[in-house]
Amino acid sequence: MPQKRIVILGAGFGGLTEAKAIHKYLKNDQDVDILMVNQSPYHVYLTELHEVAGSRVSEDGILVPIEHVLEHTKVRFVQDTIKTVDVDNHKLISDEAEYPFDYLIVACGSQPAYFGIPGMKENALTLWSLDDAKKIHQHVLDVFEQASKEKDPAKRKELLTFVVGGGGFTGVEMMGELRQWTEVLCKRYGIPKEERTLIIVEALPKILPNLPDSLIEKAKNYMTKKGINIMTDSPITEVEPGIIHLKSGETIKAGTFIWTGGVEAKDFVKNIGLRTGKRGKIEVNKYMQSVDDPNIYVIGDDAYFVTEHGEMPALVESAMESAECACYNIAADIHGQPKKEFKLELRGVMVSIGSTYAVAHVMNMKMSGVFALLMKHLVNLNFLFGVGGIESIVKYIKYHFFQSNRGRPMIIKHMTVKSQTFWLSLIRFFLGLLWITEGITKVQDGWLSGYAKIGDVGSGASLQLVGPSTPGWYAWIAEHIIYPNAIFFQSLIVLTELALGLMFIFGFLTFIGGIISAFMSINFMLSASASAGAAVTPSLLNPGNLWILVLSIAMLGGAGRAFGLDYYFMPYLKELIRYYQRNHRLALIPLIKHVLKKDQ
Ligand SMILES: Cc1cc2nc3c(=O)[nH]c(=O)nc-3n(C[C@H](O)[C@H](O)[C@H](O)COP(=O)(O)OP(=O)(O)OC[C@H]3O[C@@H](n4cnc5c(N)ncnc54)[C@H](O)[C@@H]3O)c2cc1C
Repeated sequence: MPQKRIVILGAGFGGLTEAKAIHKYLKNDQDVDILMVNQSPYHVYLTELHEVAGSRVSEDGILVPIEHVLEHTKVRFVQDTIKTVDVDNHKLISDEAEYPFDYLIVACGSQPAYFGIPGMKENALTLWSLDDAKKIHQHVLDVFEQASKEKDPAKRKELLTFVVGGGGFTGVEMMGELRQWTEVLCKRYGIPKEERTLIIVEALPKILPNLPDSLIEKAKNYMTKKGINIMTDSPITEVEPGIIHLKSGETIKAGTFIWTGGVEAKDFVKNIGLRTGKRGKIEVNKYMQSVDDPNIYVIGDDAYFVTEHGEMPALVESAMESAECACYNIAADIHGQPKKEFKLELRGVMVSIGSTYAVAHVMNMKMSGVFALLMKHLVNLNFLFGVGGIESIVKYIKYHFFQSNRGRPMIIKHMTVKSQTFWLSLIRFFLGLLWITEGITKVQDGWLSGYAKIGDVGSGASLQLVGPSTPGWYAWIAEHIIYPNAIFFQSLIVLTELALGLMFIFGFLTFIGGIISAFMSINFMLSASASAGAAVTPSLLNPGNLWILVLSIAMLGGAGRAFGLDYYFMPYLKELIRYYQRNHRLALIPLIKHVLKKDQ
C-alpha cells in the first residue's frame, strides 16, 4: 500500500493546476498515490460560460475531458460527488464510496451569493455552472418565442427586457453576449431591435471595479453606444417574479433577470467543519493549509486568505497560484524540505464585451478593442495548451472561430462545410504518383550522377530556370544562388520529389507534404521550364503546374487521414507532445500501444 495518499477535490482551474504541479513534484515518488475526485468527467472552462449562455459557443466548446488532462501523469481520476469530509478520520465521503487521505486539497469552487436579498435566490437566474448557462440559453429562447406571439406592446416590452444584476466581469461579459445574441434573435423573430431593453444594475458607484478608471470609461462608452443602460449606485432590495426592486424605490419589469452580484464558498465547503472566514471560505495560513488541520490544503475560491492588499479575490489566477503553492508544500512536507509562503501576484484582468470587443489590464498595460480580445484568446490558449495540449487548442480555435454559433463571416461558413476526407485520398494518390514519376525520371536522366542538369539557356542543361517571363528577383536567385550550386539543388529537387511521392502515396505527414508540394510547383511556375527536358517556355501560367499547386493546397485538409498513415501518426504525434509536456522525456514504444488501444 502506498504510504502517502493525496486527494485533490475538484477539477476546476485550481484542481487542474494542482494535478499538473503535483505530478511534476512527485512523479518519481513510488510510495505516493494521487487521486483527483470531481463531480463531472469534464473540466468546465468557467470563464467562458457566458458564451454558452449567449449562444456564441456550444456546450462542448468549453468542456475539457479530465481523463485527457491526466493522461501520462500519476494522478488517477474518479468521478464522484463528495457529500462530506470526515476531518477527524481524514476521509472524503460520497453516496457511493469513501476516500481516505493523508493530504487533501480542497478546490471545489464557489456558488452565487444572494446576500439575503428577499426573492433573489428564488427568482433570479445565475451564471456559475454549465447548467446555469444552459438554463439562461433556453430561457432567452423561450422569452423570444413568447414575445413573438405577444400582441400587447407593454407586455412584449417587459418580456424583451434583459437585466443583469452586478457589474463585475461576469455581469459585463454576460451582458455583452446578450446584446449580440438578442440582435440575432430580433432578426430571426421579426422583432424590431428597439423593442429590446438591456440594463446592468450595479450597487457600487462604478462597474468593473478591478479595472483602472480609463478602461472602465471605455467599457461604459462601448456598452452605451451599443444600447446597454448602465445603472450604478442602484442596490437591488428585492426580487419578485419578473420585477426587480431598487433601493431608490424604482422597479424594473423584466422577462429576464440574471444575478452575478457575488460569490461565496460552496455550501458543502462551508459545512466541512473547518474554521471559515468571510462568505464561508475556509481560513488558510501562508502555506495554504487550513488553520485547523495542516494536512488539509484549501485553494482558489474556497480559500480565505488575506494579504496586505486585502482578501484573495475569486479569480483564475488566484486559484492557479494558490494551487501551485499548495502542491509545492505537500511535496516539501513529504520530502522533509522547507515549505514556501504564498505570494499572490495578479498579472491582470481581461473582460470581453461580446465577441468583438474587450478591455484588459495586463501587467500594467491597458488595452481595449481587438488587442484586448486577442490577449484574452491568447491567455485562454496558453492555459488550454498547458492542460490539454494541442487538441485543446485546436478545439478552442474550432469552436471560437470556425464553429461559433453566431457572427461567423460568410467565408468562414464556407470554409467549415464538412466533406469526406476519403475523396481527397484519391487526389493524394494521384499527386503522389505524379511526384514519384517525376523524381524517377530525373534519376534515370542522371540528375544524381554529379553532372549539372540545371543551368542557363545554351548550357545544355535540361532545366533552365530563367526565361523571358521569369520575374527579375527569381532570375537573380537562380543566377546567383542556384546555378553556382547546381549539383546540390538538383539533388535536393530529386530527393524532395521522391519524398513527396512517398508521403502522398502513403499519406504520411500530408499537411507538410502539401506545403512543400505547393512551394515546388510555385517554383516551377516561376522558372522557365515546367519539367525536366521541357523546352524553354514562359511557364508562369503553365497549366500543369497550376494544377499541381491547386491539388497541393487541397492536401492541407487532412488528406492523409483516410487510407493513410496520418490516421495513426497524427494522434501518435499529439500523444508524444502531451507526454513530453508532462514528463519532459519521450516514451516512443509505449505510446504506440497506447494510441492503438485508444483506436479500438
Ligand atoms: C461566468 C464566469 C466568468 C468568469 N470570468 C473570469 C475571468 O474573466 N477572469 C478570472 O480570473 N476569473 C473569472 N471567473 C472566476 C473563476 O472562474 C474562478 O475564480 C475559478 O474558476 C476558481 O477556480 P477553483 O479551482 O477554485 O474552482 P472551480 O474552477 O469552480 O472548480 C471547482 C471544481 O470542483 C468541482 N466540485 C465542486 N463541488 C464538488 C463536490 N462536492 N464533489 C466533487 N467535485 C466538486 C466542480 O465540478 C469543479 O470542477 C469567472 C467565473 C464565471 C462563473
